[in-house]
Amino acid sequence: MKTLYLFNTLTRNKEEFIPIEAGKAGMYCCGPTVYNFAHIGNLRAYFFEDILKRVLLFNGFEVNHIMNITDVGHLVSDDDEGEDKMEKGSAREGKTVWEIAEFYAEAFKKDIALLNVLPPSVYCKATDFIKEQIEMVECLDKKGYTYKTNDGIYYDTSKFPEYGRMALLDVEGLEEGRRIAFSDEKKSKTDFALWKFSPKDQKRQMEWESPYGTGFPGWHIECSAMSIKFLGKHFDIHCGGVDHIPIHHTNEIAQAEACTGEKFVNYWLHGEFLIEEKGKMSKSAGEFLRLQTLIDKGYSPLDYRYFLLMTHYRKKIRFSFDNLDAARNGFNNLKSKIKEVKSDLKELYDVSESDNVFRYREKFYEGINDDLNVSEGLALTWEVLKDESLSAEEKIFLVNDFNKILGLDLDKIEADNIPEEIIVLANKRKEAKANKDFKLSDDIRQQIKALGYELLDKKGGEFDIKKI
Ligand code: AMP
Ligand code: ZN
Repeated sequence: MKTLYLFNTLTRNKEEFIPIEAGKAGMYCCGPTVYNFAHIGNLRAYFFEDILKRVLLFNGFEVNHIMNITDVGHLVSDDDEGEDKMEKGSAREGKTVWEIAEFYAEAFKKDIALLNVLPPSVYCKATDFIKEQIEMVECLDKKGYTYKTNDGIYYDTSKFPEYGRMALLDVEGLEEGRRIAFSDEKKSKTDFALWKFSPKDQKRQMEWESPYGTGFPGWHIECSAMSIKFLGKHFDIHCGGVDHIPIHHTNEIAQAEACTGEKFVNYWLHGEFLIEEKGKMSKSAGEFLRLQTLIDKGYSPLDYRYFLLMTHYRKKIRFSFDNLDAARNGFNNLKSKIKEVKSDLKELYDVSESDNVFRYREKFYEGINDDLNVSEGLALTWEVLKDESLSAEEKIFLVNDFNKILGLDLDKIEADNIPEEIIVLANKRKEAKANKDFKLSDDIRQQIKALGYELLDKKGGEFDIKKI
């Protein structure tokens, strides 16, 4: 197995990936809150996790990939205040929260499938694991990490000395700010809800009995409880977008480590944001671009995947239609080039052991294993296709292999089936050119063009034929 390096937010360093169990990788990814469609920024997070998973698979790991679906408990502010996102979706559409959750979870699965994001091994819905979440609250309660307020059971972050370490939080500084701005019952600004009580005068659509009273779980507890349920108390990788570092993931660590007394996760990976001219794209801001919006404008989902592949996951991407157009052009050119090479395939023979294949594969590995440098992998794909010292068979073998990471369906591209009539005309033109009859040669080229094909001249009078 090759050495894989990943940037770990815990240490702010690229570290060698050493799994807890040899040959296996357990990976938990924070999934969507299903009160609306995913926007193309959200999809960037799942795309980055897909690359990570594909790189782990390419390196020979067996990957257990768990993704939650948040269908309860996520309040609009990411804090413990404000409206419940699911209830907000329900009021907006006049459907029950359960219907909303079902509809948007399905829409999400369709979106990621269109982007060729491999589905997780397990999707777990927060509402299916309420028992586990209550048990974790009880565990924290027994160990003295909680206190009760009028509206719920809270985690007392002052009891967890390591609180905020990954996010490099200045907890004391936050406290100073809070004395002026906040007057709620929380003892400290960083404390957060583990269980929220239902309002006394109102029945919520989603509520459950618990030893603490009727209510619903705080947002963060679902991920600690479900990741431990599926991957164990201590597992390899946890990911999400960078916005999760200071609150959601910080709180997940505090809950899990206080309860189990063990280290929770070895490697934390975070994807940077997709931004627009006007700033961060966000669902709660109301207007946002969906994958379907791009499809409606004539782009294919894989044009968007190609666009995402061009930037490293730890760098921001500025989205604009001009940038997307440039990506689409690049992708179209790549597909044409592959078609062209495929039409040069003569007989298929095994090239897997060839020196050229070995050399390029090593280079590809080096890039993707250096903290998922897929843009380098994409550039290398171009280099392979242009390298005259490689046979068509070697090129196609490598492109198909690299596609396991790129996920652009490059292996499905077929050579244009050129009609016999066009081949006859092209050969006549070759003859005319050899006889230096340039007038005839040009006429035939035009004739071929009128029939929907284009001739690309190569060395030695040879040619390729491309469908226009
Ligand atoms: P949500 O459905 O709001 O819980 O977000 C789902 C995922 O998308 C999380 O991992 C977020 O960190 C991520 N995310 C949200 N906005 C963006 C954005 N503009 N660019 C990239 N990732 C984002
Ligand atoms: Zn989470």
